[in-house]
Parts: sequence; structure tokens; C-alpha cells
Amino acid sequence: MRRLRRIKILATLGPASADSAVIRRLFEAGADVFRINMSHTPHDKLREMVATIRNVEGSYGRPIGILVDLQGPKLRLGTFAEGGIMLKNGEAFIVDADAAPGDKSRVQLPHPEILAALRPGHALLIDDGKIRLIVEEHTPGRVVTRVAVGGKVSDRKGVSLPDTDLPMSAMTPKDRADLDAALECGIDWVALSFVQRPEDVIETKKLVRGRASVMAKIEKPQAIERLAEILDAADALMVARGDLGVEMPAERVPGLQKQMTRMARRAGKPIVIATQMLESMIQSPVPTRAEVSDVATAVFEGADAIMLSAESAAGKFPVEAVSTMNRIAEEVERDPTYRTVIRAQRPDPEPTGADAIAEAARTIAETLDLSTIICWTSSGSTALRVARERPKPPVVAITPNSATGRKLSLVWGVHCVVAEDAHDQDDMVNRACRMAFSDGFAKAGQRVIIVAGVPLGTPGATNMVRIAYVGAEDVGP
Ligand code: PGA
Ligand code: MN
Repeated sequence: MRRLRRIKILATLGPASADSAVIRRLFEAGADVFRINMSHTPHDKLREMVATIRNVEGSYGRPIGILVDLQGPKLRLGTFAEGGIMLKNGEAFIVDADAAPGDKSRVQLPHPEILAALRPGHALLIDDGKIRLIVEEHTPGRVVTRVAVGGKVSDRKGVSLPDTDLPMSAMTPKDRADLDAALECGIDWVALSFVQRPEDVIETKKLVRGRASVMAKIEKPQAIERLAEILDAADALMVARGDLGVEMPAERVPGLQKQMTRMARRAGKPIVIATQMLESMIQSPVPTRAEVSDVATAVFEGADAIMLSAESAAGKFPVEAVSTMNRIAEEVERDPTYRTVIRAQRPDPEPTGADAIAEAARTIAETLDLSTIICWTSSGSTALRVARERPKPPVVAITPNSATGRKLSLVWGVHCVVAEDAHDQDDMVNRACRMAFSDGFAKAGQRVIIVAGVPLGTPGATNMVRIAYVGAEDVGP
């Protein structure tokens, strides 16, 4: 089973898509990676979902990626005696550490260290930014705020603090427990929420110890300030537009999305565009024109993946949402302007053997109009560098490691095949040709280009390119 597009689709699982029949249909419709959101998933459910995905993977013989999204330090208010209150513009309102139920004059924020970090002028945004309070006075254990934008506030609403450096790491005790459970199930990607600094990513990588790859979700202004270092520490980025658009003016998000996509492409690290991509499809079987255009923008930018959240997790049309994304991506990638737009953002190769070869392979393949670029890759790094070139022909990555195949399922343009390691160079070429044929990438008489590191199994030693014919012997019985 091969996809007819380069960009990948990441679908979040939830109540609308938890059972195996739906997961199977989501995969068939185009989902390449599944996301499990730990904000809403108990550990027994996590284990069940992972087992179901591995089952689907087995029955199609195709690697499927699993991304576990850790909740991170999501702040919430305490409760109210009456369940909620109305705040009017210009009123004073106190936020403190007192666990007593709130009323019209005050409510608890059950994080004393955060209360201590607030300063006059800082904003408190409540319920996805619907309500805005500005700190006027700061005394130990409490702040007096002025209501800048009022409205209804009810129990345990989320709080964002765009101006405050949170004195906490991106990993809470819940996240650590969730991470342990996820690693035990053998997942492929871990996404870290509300990253503020590179140290947040480094700390997580220490805990993960190579058992999964780590994606930094960019959803705080503090992370934007240190983006280059965060990208350097992480294996991938997510443009988490939901919270980013609350913590920063929403009109800054499109520009930031472009900047991040370019930076990640330059670094050769996957970038995911997330949130509200097909939001109206939670309720409706068809998207709005604006949503189609938003998905198309991510495809034109050359992002590695586009993500569905509630559309596939809790909406009425999870399968339709995936097939809509799939259709948009296929159509955009067929558009005559697509290649020129993608090419305009191509980064220069870095001065390494791997990049020189990746660039050469792309140039040769495009000059000779070869059908496929095939990489033998054990860690996945060769395939990542070839994908960084955003070549015109599809990329097939052959790897002996199923973990590598699953990790690469998030990467632009890479079709992964998990197979036994080749025993010599001839075997490598012959099997590459046969696989290109059997998976539908090359016909008899067409040529492919093969990229590898020889001797095999030395990670990071890409040093070979070879052009080969797919001959009668490759397509025979
Ligand atoms: P979330 O992250 O869905 O976990 O909040 C994505 C976002 O904020 O856009
Ligand atoms: Mn978020």
C-alpha cells in the first residue's frame, strides 16, 4: 500500500476513533501516524490503542508511527462555590492560593510557585484566551487583577500566562508516569507540551534514552525566543497553533508557522502543522474553503505532516477528515506551481558526505527522470537527509529496524519498508529494485537510484550512489 502524496497525515485518536475498525479505516484513508493525547487517555486505554495500531500495522505489513503527546504544565483555576461567575470589564478580581471555593471577588490558582512568578502588567488568559485579566498588584500568595475582557468563568478553566516565565519544567509528575507507560508499550515519538527552553527537551531526552524520538510543541512565546536552540535539542517540531494562538496574537501564527517550517526544513528535522486544520469537520462532512486553503498552505510550505485533533478524535466524521486531508494534499502536490514553491525554499547541503550524496542523488534522479530514490538506512539519518532535499521522485527507505521504519513514517516523502539487512552490495541493489517494483514505485525498464552507506550498518556513513535498472528478473515471480 503506497501513498500518492509526500506530506504525511497525523490523526489523533479518541472516543470517535478508539476501536480497531475505525483505526483501520483511518489508516486506509491516509493516516500515517496516530497521536495519543495523554490529557485524555488513561494507561489501560493507551496500551489498548497501541496494541490495536500494531495489529493494523501487522495486517498491512506497513510501518505505522505512534506519537504520544504529554500534557505538560497545563494550568487550571480552582473551583467556584456556584460553579462559575460572570466577570465584567473593569472589575477587580483576585487570584490566590486559597483552596476555598471561589466567588465574585476571588478564585484559587493551585500553583503557588506560579502566583509568585506573576508581576504587575502580566496577563492571565482564561478558557482559551476568552477572558483576559491583567495583574495590578502582587503580594505574597495572591495577585489583584483588573478584568480587561470579561465573560463567564467556571470551574477548572485553563489558564495561559504569555508574559510569565513559568518556573517549572515541561515535564510534570503526571507526564513522567505517562512517559514511562508509553515507552513500555514501545511507541515511536513523544511530544512535549508547553516547551519553554532547550533544557526542557534535553531533560526529556535523558529520560527517554533513545527509546523514542522527541518532538517539541511550540506553543509559548518563550519557546519562540529560543527556537533555534530548541530545534537543535529536539528531533522534530510541532507548530501547536491552538495554544500558540492564545498565548500570542493569532495573527502572528501564520508568519511563525512559515518561519518554523523553513527552520526545520533547513535542519532536516520533521515539522508538523497542528490544530484546527479542518475544525468544521468535527460537525460537518465537508470542510470550509478557508480550511482547505489552510491545509494547502502547509502542503505548499513543504511541512512533513499535517495533523487532525478533535476532527479525528471526537468529531462526527473522523474518516472523512482524513480522506479530505489526503485529497487536498494529493491535489496540491499535483498542481503545476507546487514544485517551484517547494524548490524555492530548498536549503543548501551542509558540508558532510551524507548531504553531498543526498543532493547528488536528487539532482541525478531529477535530471534523468528516475522513478525512485531508494535509501538503505539503519538509523534513518540517510533517509532524513534525502527527504531534506524534497526531491521530485518518491523516496523509498529500506531499513532492517522496525523502529526506524515507524519513526520515518512522519517524514516528508518517505515510504518505509522494513526488511532484512542486505548481505552485500549486489544484494542491496537487487532487493532495492525488486522492492521498488513490488511496492508500485518502478516499472520494468525504469531506472532507480540507490543511496547507502557501505559497509552496511555503519550509521551516518552514507557514501554510495548507484543507478540501477529494474529488469525482468526484478519483476518476475
Ligand atoms: P494540544 O496541542 O492539542 O495538546 O493543546 C496542540 C495545540 O496547542 O495546538
Ligand atoms: Mn497545546
